[in-house]
Amino acid sequence: MFLKSGIRSKLPRVGTTIFTRMSKLAEDHQAINLAQGFPEFDCSPDLQKLVDKYVRLGKNQYAPMAGVMVLREAIAEKVFASTSHQYHPETEITITSGATEALFVAISTIIHAGDEVIVFEPTYDSYVPAIELNGGIPVFVTLDPQYESIDWGAVCSRITPQTRAIMVNTPHNPTGNVWKLNDLQQLAHLAEKYDLLVISDEVYEHIVFDGQPHISTASIPSLAARTFLCGSFGKTFHTTGWKLGYCLAPSALTTEFRKIHQYVVFSVVTPLQFAVAEYLAEPAHYLSLSSFYERKRNMFLDAINDTGFAMRPTEGSFFQNASYSNLSDENDRVLAERLTKEVGVASIPVSSFYNEITDFKTLRFCFAKNDETLLRAADALHKIVW
Ligand code: PMP
Ligand code: GLN
Repeated sequence: MFLKSGIRSKLPRVGTTIFTRMSKLAEDHQAINLAQGFPEFDCSPDLQKLVDKYVRLGKNQYAPMAGVMVLREAIAEKVFASTSHQYHPETEITITSGATEALFVAISTIIHAGDEVIVFEPTYDSYVPAIELNGGIPVFVTLDPQYESIDWGAVCSRITPQTRAIMVNTPHNPTGNVWKLNDLQQLAHLAEKYDLLVISDEVYEHIVFDGQPHISTASIPSLAARTFLCGSFGKTFHTTGWKLGYCLAPSALTTEFRKIHQYVVFSVVTPLQFAVAEYLAEPAHYLSLSSFYERKRNMFLDAINDTGFAMRPTEGSFFQNASYSNLSDENDRVLAERLTKEVGVASIPVSSFYNEITDFKTLRFCFAKNDETLLRAADALHKIVW
């Protein structure tokens, strides 16, 4: 397809993301924004002081291409403590501009024209464009937003000789589902059997509820050996605007990853890297996050319990899905827009996370908000006219 300017779009099906659109609609209608996923609260004053300290210490020029060494060392230590897998800071850890860059570069590193990539949907919105820009072909394993477990037989049936990689996201955006040990074992089995690479998005690793663990791909040696593990400090430290993330991968994969990373951003914000490195020294700074969000999840669930939405308490992330299939036939995009305008609460229609326009009559609410905001939103949601 040719645009007026004569540029042939590389992403003809893509428009502005649903997150941007719903945030704009919320702003236009002064609605409470439970749509785009970002915390309403600020990061810790201690972390802010560390940024100030390193800016004043003159850590304001380019960081090394792979990231400042103290941060890479701090990540290696942290990941070793939780998974017993030792990533080498020199050759296996790269600091990136958020998980978004880590994911994009990991995909670009391994996907050649015609390669197939297994993608579970609903899926986070950045994966498919990154695959397609590299000439890859996303092959979808479609799950209902209320799915309880993955049908590994169905995954297996989608694998062909062209399958190069599989995308993983646990805890999952938008469903909040957390992979169990069996899922990771099945993944490891298939990846080995068919010689697949894995790109694992674990940005919500520290937001897991009801005593369930987050099981990282790093904790399974055969997986760690073929995985690009993408993480972010945005969710963990309430700093989504810093766009500070990382990619952990065996050295042979990291070498190729860095060849692309160096030409996408070269390196990322220096003082923030020093600040986060120092802040990571205290594990309580991230280990307290699950209980912090579990209380908010429970409060939000209690507050909207009698609205008629059907909800399974989310297992992880800061998203709660709510189905209204028993209340109305309205399309989820139409409903999300109507609720923003009429009752003043913005959400994300879950159909946006599917390749084909599908309507599962489910909305995603972000509960990374102040208690008072959540209670006001719950009050408003009681006013829905179905
Ligand atoms: N993956 C998932 C599943 C996400 O929800 C997000 C952002 N919300 C990202 C990746 C991107 O992370 P970052 O902001 O660090 O780029
Ligand atoms: N990851 C956030 C969400 O799921 C949004 C990030 C973005 O706006 N790109 O809501």
